[in-house]
Amino acid sequence: MPNLTLEQEMNPWLAQEARFDIAAQKLNLDPGITKVLRLPVREITVYIPVGMDDGSIEVFTGYRVQHSIARGPGKGGVRYSPSVSLDEVRALASWMTWKCAVVNIPFGGAKGGIVCDPGKMSQAELERMTRRYTAELMEFIGPEKDVPAPDMGTGEQTMAWIMDTYSMHTRQTCTAVVTGKPVNLGGSRGRREATGRGISVVCDEALKHLGLSIDNCRVIVQGFGNVGSNAARILAAKGYRIVGIAEYDGGLYNANGIDISALAEHRKQAGTVNGFRDAEATDKDELLTRACEILIPAATENVITSRNADRLRCRILCEGANGPTTTVADDILADKHIFVIPDILANAGGVTTSYFEWVQDRMGYFWTEDEVNQRLDRIMTDSFRDVLAYAKTHGVHNRIAAYMLAVDRVAYTTRQRGMYA
Ligand code: NAD
Repeated sequence: MPNLTLEQEMNPWLAQEARFDIAAQKLNLDPGITKVLRLPVREITVYIPVGMDDGSIEVFTGYRVQHSIARGPGKGGVRYSPSVSLDEVRALASWMTWKCAVVNIPFGGAKGGIVCDPGKMSQAELERMTRRYTAELMEFIGPEKDVPAPDMGTGEQTMAWIMDTYSMHTRQTCTAVVTGKPVNLGGSRGRREATGRGISVVCDEALKHLGLSIDNCRVIVQGFGNVGSNAARILAAKGYRIVGIAEYDGGLYNANGIDISALAEHRKQAGTVNGFRDAEATDKDELLTRACEILIPAATENVITSRNADRLRCRILCEGANGPTTTVADDILADKHIFVIPDILANAGGVTTSYFEWVQDRMGYFWTEDEVNQRLDRIMTDSFRDVLAYAKTHGVHNRIAAYMLAVDRVAYTTRQRGMYA
């Protein structure tokens, strides 16, 4: 990697571009198609006036970026966070394009976000903001156009509000406009746990590939939200030993394994993982560098960087979050022979089950949880093997292999459709 300033290293859009460029070059991609796939098709910025509970008016900035619709409607979550920026949303949108292509589902890539602090807003304020954001995007979203889903700071309730607002405008109940809805409103069974479940499937495959066994397989997870807590719970049920949990306000370590259900209950009661009786309190950043077989960053971007990558002591890095590793850290991890399961493969269980939700909504016929899980397991296993086969054939690391597989698929469709110009 060329010398980057810390600011450049942490810019998710530049990180995405750097990996795309390597993949395009290795694939010998036509320069014209390279130019097309490098940029999003559409970026929308909206200013969202919201009447606050105290009678004042606040104006929030929101984005929706559609990176690609070559293989199907745009697909991607909506993030509510004070750190949302256009570069972040743009990067997340392109990662969705590559992720959907890695698991070979018929979606493009999109992402949205609002710069706000959901923890400091009431439910009523969040509802008004979500509905106005949806109203501003009416022409651009829809089951055949672009299908939002939850991400950090949003959840099933947010999706229900988006679905209802969209439906009020179109004068018909349209459940397929979003995924990640509550099950009684057209959500899919298994969606809530799907990203964590997908992570457990690729961890199983990685162990088999490396000749390691689940017995004594120590796991450290960063982030105990939707992705991290479900991954930890499902892995623990499979026999993995979850020895560490890092949250934004502290870390927990227990060499004998943390009881994940008890921790989830504790967090529900206390609002924090801190104070959990059956584990030693530890520094959340130092925890990432403790010895383990599998480290799962499942919180946010840029947590494995030039500042800590050389201190990691895991055998496998399984990226539950989007963009947790910087490009500079990629090179350090390669030198340390850490086996990376890249984000666009590792956390694709969520969007895969979102695809199942969209299919079920459009059919009006819903599957059992077993049916959903079996289909998910098969897609995750096949995709893991596809990425590894690419890595072997082209002599590249897993991340570049995943990008090559994805870029190849999107480029193929783009060429076949031809340029409308
Ligand atoms: P979430 O908001 O439910 O959980 C995130 C958790 O991480 C929270 O508990 C938060 O307190 C914690 N956290 C935040 N910053 C932290 C830090 N610096 N150190 C330790 N903990 C920290 O969000 P989520 O849906 O679980 O998403 C987590 C990541 O996974 C994001 O990168 C998201 O884009 C990605 N992702 C989510 C899904 C999904 O289905 N939810 C699918 C694919 C990828």
